[in-house]
Formats: sequence, C-alpha cells, structure tokens
Amino acid sequence: MILYKNISELLTLAPAAKKSGRRIAEFDLGIVEDAALVASGTRILWAGKLKEIPKKLLKGKRKSISLNGKVVMPGFVECHTHSLFGGNRAHEFEMRNQGATYQEIASKGGGILSTVRATRAASDRDLMVSLNKHVLEFVRQGVTTLEVKSGYGLNHKEEIRLLSLINKVKKIRVVSTYLGPHARSPEQPDFSLYIDEIIKKTLPEIKQKKLSRRVDIFVEHGYFSLELGERYWQAAKSLEMDLVGHVEQLTATGAAVAAAKMNAVSVDHLVCLKDDEVGEIAGSETTCVLLPTADFYLKMAYPAARRLIDAGARVALATDFNPGTSPSTDLSLVGVLARLNMKMTLPEIISAYTIGAAHALRLADSVGSLEAGKSADFIVLENSWRELFYRVGKMPILSTWSKNKRIY
Ligand SMILES: [Zn+2]
Repeated sequence: MILYKNISELLTLAPAAKKSGRRIAEFDLGIVEDAALVASGTRILWAGKLKEIPKKLLKGKRKSISLNGKVVMPGFVECHTHSLFGGNRAHEFEMRNQGATYQEIASKGGGILSTVRATRAASDRDLMVSLNKHVLEFVRQGVTTLEVKSGYGLNHKEEIRLLSLINKVKKIRVVSTYLGPHARSPEQPDFSLYIDEIIKKTLPEIKQKKLSRRVDIFVEHGYFSLELGERYWQAAKSLEMDLVGHVEQLTATGAAVAAAKMNAVSVDHLVCLKDDEVGEIAGSETTCVLLPTADFYLKMAYPAARRLIDAGARVALATDFNPGTSPSTDLSLVGVLARLNMKMTLPEIISAYTIGAAHALRLADSVGSLEAGKSADFIVLENSWRELFYRVGKMPILSTWSKNKRIY
C-alpha cells in the first residue's frame, strides 16, 4: 500500500465522472485541497482530504511518498491515434504547401499508400522501435492510456500483424483498434468486396485471437460508403465488438447519426455534422471525439464543439496522430486549438481528455478519474492546472504514474 501525500490540489474528476462527462463546469473537476491518495496493487483505495483519511488505511504496512505540494490529476487518455506506421510524409507536406494537388502527390507515389508501402516494408522490430518512441512521447505528456489503430496494412495478413504489434506495448495501457477499412486496399480495390472479405475472414480472426475489441472505418464519399459502414458495423456488433467511425470529416454522409443509432462507442471528427444532427448525437451514449489538429493541418473548419456540449453531448479530444493529416503528438496543441477555435473552456478540455476519452474507449469504470477502485493512473503537474493547454509544445508534467508505478 502506498500513501501519496503533500498534494496541494487533487483534481479527482469524480463529479465529472458522475455526470458521465457531460455539461462540465469547474466544479466538476472535483478539486480537493491538502489531499492524499492511497493505492494498493494497481488500484486506488481512497482519494480525498489528508485529514479525513480513514484510520484503518493508516494501520499496517505502507509506504509514503511525498508529492512535494504539487497538483495531481488523472493521467490523460489519448483515445484516437494512428501511432504505428513506417516512414513519414514530410516531403509530401512540403509539396502540399507549395501548391501540389492531392492528385499530383498521389501520382508521385505519395498519400496514404506511401505509408502503407513503408509500413509493409518495415520489420516487426523497426515498427516496434518507432511505436515505442511514439508511446514515450505521449507518456512524457502525461498520457497513461493510449489508443492505437491499425490501418496501414490494408490486407488481412498485414492488418493482423499490426494489431499483434500494438498489443506488445508494455509501458502503459494501450487499446488496439482494427481499422482495416481505412483506405482502398491495393489487393482488393473494390470497397464492397474488401468489406466482404473483412467480415468473412478478418473480424472472426481478430475476435478469436483477441487482437482487438474495437472496429473503426473511414466513411466518406469516394471511400467507404455509409451502406458499407453499416454492413461492417453490423457484422462487428454481432461479434460483440465496439463500434467506432471516422465520420463527417470531409463531407456530410449521415454516418455519425447512423453509428450512434447502432450504439457506437464513439464517432470521430464530426467537422461536417449538420445542425439538425447535433441533438440526436448529444442524446445518445456515443462519445464525440474531436480532433482539431487534423482540422488545423488540413486547413478545415473545426467541429461545432460548443453546440454539441451545450446540447449535452459527451466530448473527448485527441491528437489523431498520423504521418499524413496530423503529424503531431502534442496534446497542448489539441487543447489550445479547442480553446481558440472551438470555444471550449479549460475544465471542458480537461474532462474531455480524461473521463470523456475514457468513455470513448469504454474504460470509464477503470480510468479517467481518481476514485476508489479505479486504476492508480495519475500525473503530477509543475504548477497550477490552469497552466494546462496554454503553451503549445509544452505540457507542464513533472511525473507520470501508471498503475501505481512511476513511469516518467
Ligand atoms: Zn484518425
């Protein structure tokens, strides 16, 4: 048992968790002054005011650790990344900024297929080295739960390989998501036949080998249609897998509402969500995952976070880290864009990056707030929590603790 003491302010996020991450105000951060945290094994036994600590917790064998009068809060949950890939697209970024069109870039072998080629060509070892480097970048920013998608394999064998690699990360809790329908498969260019093959072969194997419990798809005009999306989600649902979608990113397709009706755990992007669809999403159990860094790099509009939040939606934020449209692991950039361009308040952003994102991964019972029974995943801040999501490129984190152990 470990007693963590000398905590000037403890942000438990317990009220935010109770409200399931909806309609968040500063009160919902659950701030406790002169606080302590007691953890045993990997879990929290108690969190609250030091002088109110139950006597029985002070008896018996225990170790105490002083957190030096600093602020403590739940570790961040980064719920949407494409952190496993080979190569990079820096050259393409330059071409794009010098005026090259997507077609010109594609004709020179660029775009997502260049990442697919580089990923397929990379050894397992090289991919793991790169993935673990990305994981460390997140850990240093206070991330204790990280989602990583497959999606740069684009055929059965390669997608299975990528999921197996994602599951090998040891440093923190990693959630793998199958994203076979990410783009056109080089081997099966017919979208419908590709989905058929996924349903017949890939999903059952993922389920049987327990490689992932979540499925994602890119529903977009010119890519996977809403009809294919629904067919895919239905098949995954019958295997009791969680549904996720890249939806309403470039054009409106109606896929967000369709996914919410199928009880998807999250709908991600939502830039083109229509006004009359907001209420339906807000009233559902589906979490809205907003990815402003991608909108920033693509010079797009930003999702209507204010309208969603005011209608009662549960919102999460994430980096969408990937080598093409969002080559940034910077959580502070996400938060700053959410404040500047989406008019989210700081408490809303903190909730979105903890309990909101925990819901998006269906892990709200174990992470996202500091309460008895939950995983002892927390971070110690350099200064006040009010300095979070203020300086781009700088998350003011002193230390990161995962499952009751210091990992950074
Ligand atoms: Zn994405």
